[in-house]
Amino acid sequence: MDTDNSVHNVIIIGSGPAGLTAAIYAGRANLHPVLIEGTSAGGQLMITTDVENYPAFPNGIQGPELVLCMKKQAQRFETTFVSGDVTSVDLSKRPFAITVNAEATYLAQTLIIASGARAKQIGLPAERRLMGRGVSACATCDGFFFRDKEVVVVGGGDTAMEEAIFLTRFATQVAVVHRRDRLRASKIMQERAFQNPKIKFLWNREVSDIVAGEAGTVTGVILKDPFTGEMALKKTDGVFVAIGHEPDTAPFKGQMALDEKGYIITQSGNTHTNIPGVFACGDVQDPVYRQAVTAAGTGCMAAMDAERFLEASDHSSGGCS
Ligand code: NAP
Repeated sequence: MDTDNSVHNVIIIGSGPAGLTAAIYAGRANLHPVLIEGTSAGGQLMITTDVENYPAFPNGIQGPELVLCMKKQAQRFETTFVSGDVTSVDLSKRPFAITVNAEATYLAQTLIIASGARAKQIGLPAERRLMGRGVSACATCDGFFFRDKEVVVVGGGDTAMEEAIFLTRFATQVAVVHRRDRLRASKIMQERAFQNPKIKFLWNREVSDIVAGEAGTVTGVILKDPFTGEMALKKTDGVFVAIGHEPDTAPFKGQMALDEKGYIITQSGNTHTNIPGVFACGDVQDPVYRQAVTAAGTGCMAAMDAERFLEASDHSSGGCS
């Protein structure tokens, strides 16, 4: 195991809008931040097409382009990028120790956690087995493969509506399967989906299994009525699972206060966690708003909180050694 003996002012975990904004602010504060990107660098924006609600882009912007712009800005202020996943942390004493890919350990006086959230799975064995063979969690990535085919989208939130609408560019029909008779999605997304002639809704239905044909690719789903228990086969060529997200907090379990769903608990009105010197921002601590712009906002707050913490404890080294 390699240990980088430098004690960094601030290490940022995560490279979505929260982590990159924290890097821009910490860099401008001359803290020489080190940002650990994760293997899926860029976070959820990397699998988002049109971002229409990020201020300053009147015609919208593609998610990956927005991330790239933020990254360039963080590089301009001398952020050091480390690729790899954080596999463990030791937050029991300062400097904190952060281990990447179970290989290299980095030390830091302050830590900003911006590790985000990832798409939830239904939890069916067939879902895992058929992932990439008709099952997907990303219409942007895989929609093209369903040209002139029929697909099912599971979920009733904004993500499910966004996926369903996007998939109508390719598929002949998109069936949204929702476990209730009412959507959770915002009104504007609901209206867009209702108005799309290619989208139909299957209310009060749960996917209890996914069926594959001889070629080993998806041919249908077994839908269950949660009230009557009735089961029925629906033929489909693809299943897009869009049932929300869960926070990426595995390395922090047992080390810091998390809520019952695994989100990091921060103080009201700032980004302090229960460990002095550890701050959290973006989706990893936000089960409510979860927008790119709110993630960026809390990223800014986390960098300012870390800077003030360092000032108060006079640990800022002004460099990487
Ligand atoms: P969400 O709002 O939590 O919705 C998840 C949906 O999946 C709900 O309808 C839920 O059903 C359903 N669901 C959850 N677990 C399920 C299971 N095991 N089986 C079947 N269905 C299940 O998640 P989201 O749609 O990913 O949105 C998350 C946040 O991101 C929201 O704040 C949303 O506004 C935001 N977002 C915004 C945009 C946009 O503005 N363009 C796009 C995407 C996401 P119930 O309704 O019954 O709970």
